[in-house]
Amino acid sequence: MIEGRIHSIETFGTLDGPGIRYVVFFQGCPMRCKYCHNPDTWTMQGGTMMTADEIIAGYKKKEIYYKNGGITATGGEPLLQLDFLIELFQKAKAAGIHTCLDTSGITFSKDKEEEYLQLSKVTDYVLLDIKHVRSNDHFELTGKDNKAVFEFLSFLDRQQVPVRIRHVIVPSITLDKDSLIELGKALSQYKNIKELELLPYHTMGVAKYQELGIPYCLKGIKEPSNEEILEARKLVLEGFRQ
Ligand code: SF4
Repeated sequence: MIEGRIHSIETFGTLDGPGIRYVVFFQGCPMRCKYCHNPDTWTMQGGTMMTADEIIAGYKKKEIYYKNGGITATGGEPLLQLDFLIELFQKAKAAGIHTCLDTSGITFSKDKEEEYLQLSKVTDYVLLDIKHVRSNDHFELTGKDNKAVFEFLSFLDRQQVPVRIRHVIVPSITLDKDSLIELGKALSQYKNIKELELLPYHTMGVAKYQELGIPYCLKGIKEPSNEEILEARKLVLEGFRQ
């Protein structure tokens, strides 16, 4: 039986997929988003080794809460532990549990299409984080370009897996008229997008950087206002309609 390296589990998640969710944070992420509020999930060294059965057993203990929810795999980057994620979701589906994957899609590769096909058959919903629509800006923000992200979105579209797009609004980085319109235009090509969620950048993770001794690159950038988020949404939708 495969074991997964798990950072932590939240038993009452309300933000990461439909309903109330059992949220499993995977350890390890290849990205280095400047605004990441979970830098403690980056390394593959920490966490606890767990089997899929142990995770499902934890879910079952509080099953009554999750009637309209299910299990969400987040991180870190769950796709880094692809074989374990497939096993977890296969077992969840066999037990009648709704499955949701929260990912940046960055590890998607055609070489592993067979595994991704298996995963898509047992994934009910995907929360796909698009960090920046422009590849060079994506690289600047995260340390990786966004080619794999859009390839993963196309793959999910072909497999008819419904997706909620998540995009963090950071003043002076993603809060930019042209790139928001461009994002809307890019998204309009996909039929599987069900929701768009624009998340305000926040500074709640800064203390973790201090604890870990990692420099925080976005010092001085303010959190966006509600009005700015609404305006950003309008711009993405404007691009979508063009
Ligand atoms: S993809 Fe997520 S976990 Fe990884 S660095 Fe970015 S925000 Fe953090």
